Amino acid sequence: MMNLNSPLFDRIRSKPNAEEVRAEQEPVCQHPACRRKGEFRAPKGRDHEGEFYLFCLEHVKEYNQSYNYFAGMTDAAVQSYQKDALTGHRPTWNISVTGAGLGAESKVDAATLLRAKLERLRRAREAAAAEARVRPVGKAALKALEALGLDETADKALVRRRFKELAKRLHPDLNEGDRSREEKLRAIIDAYNYLKTVGLA
Ligand SMILES: [Zn+2]
Repeated sequence: MMNLNSPLFDRIRSKPNAEEVRAEQEPVCQHPACRRKGEFRAPKGRDHEGEFYLFCLEHVKEYNQSYNYFAGMTDAAVQSYQKDALTGHRPTWNISVTGAGLGAESKVDAATLLRAKLERLRRAREAAAAEARVRPVGKAALKALEALGLDETADKALVRRRFKELAKRLHPDLNEGDRSREEKLRAIIDAYNYLKTVGLA
């Protein structure tokens, strides 16, 4: 009869089975509920440079499409990143993939997304700058802007943002019928409506 306590048997028993060995060599896609092979690396994102998720082809594509490198970055940070990119900065999150052929595709996706995004930012800034340069601001408009605590350099987005901010702060529900605040709120609404009629909000 076989001696179950022999060192030889211990060794056999502690050896991982075939499935475990395969799981170790072939990581599974990290998309929840997906059991395909995780063959493709995808960057975890800013502040996690050099770290990757492993996905199957379908999920690395999905991930790349929704990947937003700039989420949560301030405009200034995006700008300095953009400047960097122009002077030869190489993003560290280029996806390198173990599979041939199809891997190149996911690399292009991320680079293309980034380029498109930078281009949109650049155009938006140019448009805002052009608007600020040529826009004639009449006395009444200037007064309305001042009522919102702004000057003639404010663009539409800023006017809207400021109006919402002030309207929220001065809302009667928050101020228990404070007369002076009600009047201020009315003045701000008038100013905002005026700016809308002249295309400044
Ligand atoms: Zn998957």
